[in-house]
Amino acid sequence: MDCSKVGELIRLKRIENGLTQKQLADAMNISDKTISKWERGLGCPDVALLPEVAKLLKMNIEELLKGDLKMNELMNGNMKKTQFYVCSQCGNIITGTAQMTVSCCGHKLEALKPQKADQMHQLKVETIEDEWYVTTEHEMTKAHHIGFIALVTGERVLMVKQYPEWGIHLRLPKFGHGYLYSYCTQHGLSYQLI
Ligand SMILES: [Zn+2]
Ligand SMILES: [Zn+2]
Repeated sequence: MDCSKVGELIRLKRIENGLTQKQLADAMNISDKTISKWERGLGCPDVALLPEVAKLLKMNIEELLKGDLKMNELMNGNMKKTQFYVCSQCGNIITGTAQMTVSCCGHKLEALKPQKADQMHQLKVETIEDEWYVTTEHEMTKAHHIGFIALVTGERVLMVKQYPEWGIHLRLPKFGHGYLYSYCTQHGLSYQLI
């Protein structure tokens, strides 16, 4: 999702509907700082909020996303069910798309619970030709680093392991929109829409 495009559209539609940032925020039970953030392109609305934003701005979700994101592809398919497991003992990473029991090193592993990426864990994504170019300022020390990055779309999961002491300069084929996950050894699994 292109946050600056989406944000601009939200701003235009809000003004068109005669709403202030505060009025829109109140109607959604969120802070007007959040609206301001979206409108400045500093963050995208969470997927869960999109239907409400669209409804309040009298538009449909597809319109809101302006074709940047194929909503069906996003919500259907296997990606919602994709789960990640990391063994705390050996660092083994396991992904699965179904309910399953995963164990490693004699322990049962719990699926990681993804959280929307905060500022520290938000990856920077640029488009270079037909690839996504992913970078981050996140520290990459042994004790605190990004252990893997994964792109999950309707049909595909592409996971790339990362190593401490190396900066992240990752190129991913732009095979579709979806969730971009990053796993931090201290803060767990984050996601952002791509
Ligand atoms: Zn293990
Ligand atoms: Zn971290």
